[in-house]
Amino acid sequence: MKIDLRTFHEGDTPLEISVKTADLNFLEVDGIQADRAHVKLLVHRDDNIYRVSGTITSICTFTCNRCLKEFDREICGGFELVIRALRENESPVKITEEEDILDQQDDINIVRYDQNQYNLTESLRDAFLLAISYKNLCSDNCRGICSGCGVHLNEEECRCKSKLVDSRLKVLEKLKKSIN
Ligand SMILES: [Zn+2]
Ligand SMILES: [Zn+2]
Repeated sequence: MKIDLRTFHEGDTPLEISVKTADLNFLEVDGIQADRAHVKLLVHRDDNIYRVSGTITSICTFTCNRCLKEFDREICGGFELVIRALRENESPVKITEEEDILDQQDDINIVRYDQNQYNLTESLRDAFLLAISYKNLCSDNCRGICSGCGVHLNEEECRCKSKLVDSRLKVLEKLKKSIN
């Protein structure tokens, strides 16, 4: 997904775009279900510096790690980057003072850039994948599958306890018989 740096005026420009997940190379993303993703961007231009912050949202189908059932979840990933467009005849190697200041800010990628079109695909995909990796439970309260009796604990009561009671009763009965 490319943005054209020339189209942004000084200050903030909000953008909302619906993109095909196939165009974002999302085919390798496990469980991606929607064929479109929703991208929201805010581009702040300050001369030749573009601060881009954005979110990407789409729906995926996952298998819960605890109960192994499939569930759908809307995934929303966020990212931030700074694009610094090179001025005419400026060497891409030279790091300026303003860039040094930008570099000291946490979690911000600075891209030195000398063309008008900037491709956001990689940033969007990374943000999305990062958001996915933390969300593999159908709910925070998912009770999973009982390792003893194998029931889905979200739907059924565990049967282990009653078995335990059964076997205890049997032991008691045996004891009674042996006493008699
Ligand atoms: Zn679950
Ligand atoms: Zn059980």
